[in-house]
Amino acid sequence: MDEKPKKRTLRPDRIPVAERSPLERVEDFREVPLGYTLDQARDEADRCLNCKKRPCKRGCPVGIDCGGFVDRVSKGDIKGAVKLVKEKNLLPAITGRVCPQAEQCEGPCLVGKKGTS
Ligand code: SF4
Repeated sequence: MDEKPKKRTLRPDRIPVAERSPLERVEDFREVPLGYTLDQARDEADRCLNCKKRPCKRGCPVGIDCGGFVDRVSKGDIKGAVKLVKEKNLLPAITGRVCPQAEQCEGPCLVGKKGTS
């Protein structure tokens, strides 16, 4: 199933991730960010320009196809997106928290060079 890549225009600003309020957070050690809804995740993923040379992938130490991941999210294929990441990384819930994304995958991202990746 080879879908023609979506033509995208540059939207430089990141959609902010909702967070629990500090007043709520002082009561426990639960996760601070609330994450995106599926619609927000797809809108955010639509910011990707689907670059042919995938500079984001070159920035990832384990070579995750970040652009491919984002493209699947954009299409609402969350299971496919997770499967793609797990081909290279068996602990994405951990690396997603500890990787310095700003320097790795997001550093060379073309969207980031124009705004916030
Ligand atoms: S470098 Fe950025 S814009 Fe290009 S494919 Fe990767 S995530 Fe998308």
